[in-house]
Amino acid sequence: MNNIVSNIHSIRKRILNACKNANRNPLEVKLLLATKTVTAQNIAIALHAGETLIGENKIQELKDKFETLKSIPHQSHFIGHLQSNKIKKVIKYANCIQTVDRLSLAEKLQKRLAYENKSIDIFLQFNTSNEESKFGMQPEHAIAFAQQVKKLDRLNIKGLMTIGLFSAETEKVRKCFRILKNIQTELLETGIAATELSMGMSGDLEIAIKEGATIIRVGTAIFGKRPFPDSYYWNEQRK
Ligand SMILES: *Cc1c(COP(=O)(O)O)cnc(C)c1O
Repeated sequence: MNNIVSNIHSIRKRILNACKNANRNPLEVKLLLATKTVTAQNIAIALHAGETLIGENKIQELKDKFETLKSIPHQSHFIGHLQSNKIKKVIKYANCIQTVDRLSLAEKLQKRLAYENKSIDIFLQFNTSNEESKFGMQPEHAIAFAQQVKKLDRLNIKGLMTIGLFSAETEKVRKCFRILKNIQTELLETGIAATELSMGMSGDLEIAIKEGATIIRVGTAIFGKRPFPDSYYWNEQRK
């Protein structure tokens, strides 16, 4: 259990070092704890140690842990593939949805939020690795997609999100993060300020910080290995 706290310290050190090497202000980089399969009790340990941002991949887990965690101040982002039949629940339990990857989903969110007279923060998710197994809008459609979503007044576009290539080849991973950064620049030229860049995980956070990440999402390096490979959490049926 105490591992969690010491692992957080190690990650915080890695963030500081990466910022130093990239000549960036560490205050610009937020740590999001990727908490899939982690018990609410273990998440609470991290929150009590001073962390404030968590991300879940499954609506069921988000819902199951909600009661236990709600009295501890934190923000909860949804970072998994969002099926449109889970919209009501995600709106209820998450503060932000990082995985808006298609217009039909954005439109359904807008409709439900309008009905509830609410709004929500979102990130646009892009597939920068060109892998069939990953979700996310194709980068070449970024401007058109963002402009359509921008019209939906219940959705506040806060940033962009991607999952980089899982690869030991640094330059290939870097390329993914650069694509996301370039999308951000392009969008800014069309008047859309998506200020946050959510990219980088346990294995590649240094590269992501170098390339401009403002949110890194870390699971394994803090909570240990998960019982299933990541494909289990991502290869849900496409809608
Ligand atoms: C699991 C997950 C992470 C964290 O990955 P680790 O390699 O365990 O740090 C980050 N982002 C998303 C979207 C995830 O599903």
